[in-house]
Amino acid sequence: MKSQIHEQFEKHFGGEGSFYASSGRINLIGEHTDYNGSFVFPGAIDKCIMAEIRKNGTDKVRVFSIDINDYVEFGLNEEDAPSQSWARYIFGVCRETIKRGGKVEGFDAVFAGNVPLGAGLSSSAALESTFAFAINDMWENGIDKFELARIGQSTEHNYCGVKCGIMDQFASVMGKKGHLMRLDCRSMEFEYFPFDPKGYKLVLVDSRVKHQLSGSPYNDRRNSCERVAAAIGVEFLREATMEQLESVKDKVSEEDYMRAEYVIGETSRVLEVCEALQKGDYETVGAKMYETHWGMSKLYEVSCEELDYLAELAKECGVTGCRIMGGGFGGCTINLVKDELYDSFIEKAKAGFNEKYGHEPQIYPVVISDGAHKCC
Ligand code: ADP
Ligand code: MG
Repeated sequence: MKSQIHEQFEKHFGGEGSFYASSGRINLIGEHTDYNGSFVFPGAIDKCIMAEIRKNGTDKVRVFSIDINDYVEFGLNEEDAPSQSWARYIFGVCRETIKRGGKVEGFDAVFAGNVPLGAGLSSSAALESTFAFAINDMWENGIDKFELARIGQSTEHNYCGVKCGIMDQFASVMGKKGHLMRLDCRSMEFEYFPFDPKGYKLVLVDSRVKHQLSGSPYNDRRNSCERVAAAIGVEFLREATMEQLESVKDKVSEEDYMRAEYVIGETSRVLEVCEALQKGDYETVGAKMYETHWGMSKLYEVSCEELDYLAELAKECGVTGCRIMGGGFGGCTINLVKDELYDSFIEKAKAGFNEKYGHEPQIYPVVISDGAHKCC
């Protein structure tokens, strides 16, 4: 990737710049927990966006995207926003840096990546984090890493029309090889936990289906959580116990009860997974992943037939852990698989899924890797 980027850099701008990269991410466990003030547990992966960048001494940014095969020039004022959606991520990062008092002047850049777009691995966060980190480094702005993640998040909010949380950019910026990060979405404190599953592989199976549902299932879930939290008398469901939930059973609907049961269970599962990881107990980690899957499917009701099929198939193949990754209603499962079962599982997942749903799932093996960095 590096030599391909450099070839294009020379062609478009001549000479050479500095290389920066930032990663996509997975979330091992902790789903639909962020808006409940609870934990997520992401890590950066060995799929990244990489850019070669150099100051150009003007007030214009000039960027070539290898993967889109498109070239864009833009100024750094609010009215200079480019129309190309891929370039708005970079423009947004520049603007958000400026809003925070950072310096950005014109630069030339060429970039490419291998984070699959729109597969739930956060290629957009990888793109934002690469440029946020690079700009901060090149102009020595001294913005701390967590704030660089916020620059990415604000870019999505203000320039790309996506009201996302902080997890994706946080994981992309802060990721550390061999570690996952437990982020407390209430206090924004985080902690690294070792994740180095020797003898296992981590693999995403992308169903490549995305169900469009009527109504607003996401808001419905949020509302359910808020109603139960209010009934119990806590700010967030993260603070509630199963006993407290039980005590308001008559005051909440059956559906709201199920939603809260999932969320309260999920908070415990994240903590149990962290404990298991400290002991290197990947079997417990896997068991919790399945519990999350079926909680999301039966209690939170955000799964779909295709994802349940993949989770059942994983179980039949002896896969250690499998669950929906992301909000649900389609997308990927994340699987923790023993090395010796890997090939047969992938083969069966491809063939079985194809037979039932008419296309093969996409397979993405991932390794937990470093987040944003300058490449040497
Ligand atoms: P994801 O879940 O992968 O983050 P998004 O829809 O949020 O999906 O972001 C994908 C968008 O990010 C793409 O449409 C494109 O604008 C930009 N993007 C991601 N990766 C690249 C890349 N390698 N080259 C150019 N643009 C990219
Ligand atoms: Mg995205």
